[in-house]
Formats: sequence, C-alpha cells, structure tokens
Amino acid sequence: MASSNSNISKDRSQLLGRAHGAPRQVERSFWRLLFRTSIMAGVTHVVFVALFYTLDVKPLAIVNIASSVLYLLICLLMLRPGTRFLALGLFVFEFQAHALLTAYLIGWDSGFHYYALLTIPLITLAYFDDNRMKGVAIFGVIALMVATDALSRGGAPAYVLERSVVDTLHYANLIASLSILAVIVAFYFGLITRTEDKLRQLATTDPLTHLLNRRSMLEIWDLECATQKRSGNPMSVILCDIDHFKRINDQHGHDVGDQVLRVVSETLADKTRQSDHVARWGGEEFLVLMVGTPIDKAKQLAEKLRQTVSRLDVPIDDKNGAQLQVTLTFGVTDMPPSKTDSQEAAITRADVALYAGKHAGRNCVRCQGYDQPLVRHNAA
Ligand code: GH3
Ligand code: MG
Ligand code: MG
Repeated sequence: MASSNSNISKDRSQLLGRAHGAPRQVERSFWRLLFRTSIMAGVTHVVFVALFYTLDVKPLAIVNIASSVLYLLICLLMLRPGTRFLALGLFVFEFQAHALLTAYLIGWDSGFHYYALLTIPLITLAYFDDNRMKGVAIFGVIALMVATDALSRGGAPAYVLERSVVDTLHYANLIASLSILAVIVAFYFGLITRTEDKLRQLATTDPLTHLLNRRSMLEIWDLECATQKRSGNPMSVILCDIDHFKRINDQHGHDVGDQVLRVVSETLADKTRQSDHVARWGGEEFLVLMVGTPIDKAKQLAEKLRQTVSRLDVPIDDKNGAQLQVTLTFGVTDMPPSKTDSQEAAITRADVALYAGKHAGRNCVRCQGYDQPLVRHNAA
C-alpha cells in the first residue's frame, strides 16, 4: 500500500514537473555547465597538443588531438536532449582515459589524474532518471581511479620528462583542477541561493500583486506583536476593500479586474512606509500593518490612501486609451501596547469598521478602536 502511494506521488510529481516547464532549472543549468566545461576542455586540449609536441611526447600530442575532436563531438551531442547522457558518458570516459594514458606515458606525478576527480561532482550533480545508475557511475569512476593509481604510481613512465617539467605540469594541473572544482561549487551555490530566494518569494508573496500573502502577513504580525511587547510601541491595522469590484469584473472582464488589483496594490505599497507591511488579504481585500503607529495616524494614512486611489486613472485598454476609476473603503483599528489583544480580535474590529464604511456608501474611512464598543452594522 505504502509503495503504491509513493508511486502515485512520484507519478504526480513527475507530471507536475512536466506541467511546470520541465526540465527543471537545476537540470538545465547542469547541461549548460557541462557544455561550457566541454568547450573549455576542448580548447585546453588544443593547447596541450602544442605543449606535448614541443616536449616531444608525440603519443600524448596525438591523445590530445583525439581529445579535442572528442570534445567537439560531445558539444554536438549535448545540443540534442536525446543524446545528452551519451555526451556525459563520453565526457567522463575522456577524463578517465586521459588520466590513465598520461599516468602511463609520463607518470602519475604529472598530475593529470586530478581532472578525473572532477567527474565525481559532475556525475553527482547530473539528473539521472534512476539514481542507482548514478551510484554505478560513481563506483565505476572510483574503481578506475584506483586502478590507474595502482598501475602507474611508483612505476617508471614510458617517457621520462625532466623533473622541472613534471613539477610544473603537476602544480599547473593541481591549481587548474582545484580552480575548476571551485567554479563548479560556486556555480551550484549561486544556483541554490537563487532557487531558495525564488521559492521563498513564491511561498510568501501573492503571484498577481507581489504583495505579502495572508500566511506570511500572519507570521510577520506574530513577530511584530512579540517586538511590541518589549518596545511598548503602538500598532495599527488597516483593512481595505475595492468597491463594487464584481461589477468591474462583470463589465470589463477578469483581466481588467486583475489589472485593477495590480495598480491598487502598487499604490498601497508605494504610499506606505518601509516599516509598514502590506498584504493581499483576500480576493480584492488588502491589509496594512503599521508598527509604531497610533490609530489617529493610521486613520490619516488610510485617508491619504483613499484619496490617492480615487484619483487614479487605471489604464484598461492600450488601443483606445480607456481608463477606469476605482475606490476603496477602509476599516481601521489599533492594537495598543500592554493590552490583551489578538490578531483575530483586531481583524474583527477592522472588518466591522470596513463594513460600516460599505454601509455608509463606500469610498470612505471608518475606525473601530480597541477601546470603542463594537458596533456591528446589519447586512440590511
Ligand atoms: P463591495 O463594494 O461590497 O466590496 O462589492 P464587491 O463587488 O467588491 O464585492 P464582492 O465580494 O461581491 O465581489 C468581489 C469580487 O472579486 C468577486 C470575485 O470574483 C472577484 N475576485 C476575487 N479575486 C479576484 C482576482 O484575483 N481577480 C479578479 N479579476 N477578480 C477577483
Ligand atoms: Mg469589494
Ligand atoms: Mg471583498
């Protein structure tokens, strides 16, 4: 039962992956990284052709010509999604074969095997459909490295180069391979950081308006309440709602409704302070949390917001330049320090004030302070 459930969730996540624009960002970035690395490796091997030709190690010059051609092939294979794993296989094969051949021809000390170590992070970061294949590939690389080591370390190479040349090659290869490793790690660190930022943004903001969503507003509000207990500063809440929004949707369509939501949100975000928090509380309802602000100041801000929004000309049709006017109704309340209060109670007060504003004809600001008796208006 458990396994069939996990299969269902795996299928679903694969489907979601496809629906949400698979291949994943990390996967695409991996192939891009491998493509660039292949170009760099190809160019480097051309340089090595000249180097080994000069050092008179002709077999290695020929090996490097073959490697350069192989990298050209790898780049071509990587252009087609269907042959990318073949390209990765050839890439790993080239690194390993190169390590083995250089170790055999000019000795392990030349340090070309360091590059072969890079295939382990590369295989680890690749996206395999079956992770067991990844394990097999990594095991294969480790086995090859150990075999290369055992076969070549200590034994006399086929070509004995001058000690200074071997040392130069050794340290150049050590520095180059460690630098490539640093680039790979830095690349993935950047990718993970950007992905985390993106996920956090998706989880905390409303996709249409880019304001905070309800859940993150409640979290921030919790933190602000805890800070308020220590600071003793006042705090106020504004709840506002677009007037006759259903009518806007009905008359002009849902897209125009969305455009109105975006413009109103931008205005609310623009006209509030950095320390204020603005959230899309519901469909066409917004909540502004103002820390360090008493109710009279919050009322003034609500009035400023009301006037600004009512003067807006929301563009609704680029072709004929048509514009639309919208209004908001505001309910304001406060959460005085050192009083027993809760978010739910504050929202109820702000909602009662908002409803009173709707009842009074809309496009206005109404207050329901903590200390005022709660006066509910009937729906009629
Ligand atoms: P009132 O002045 O009393 O607030 O009336 P209203 O028409 O604004 O309020 P009502 O609750 O009757 O209608 C709200 C409408 O908002 C209904 C709903 O379809 C619409 N709405 C909610 N979310 C969205 C959205 O994301 N985009 C669009 N275009 N419309 C939305
Ligand atoms: Mg409304
Ligand atoms: Mg509403």
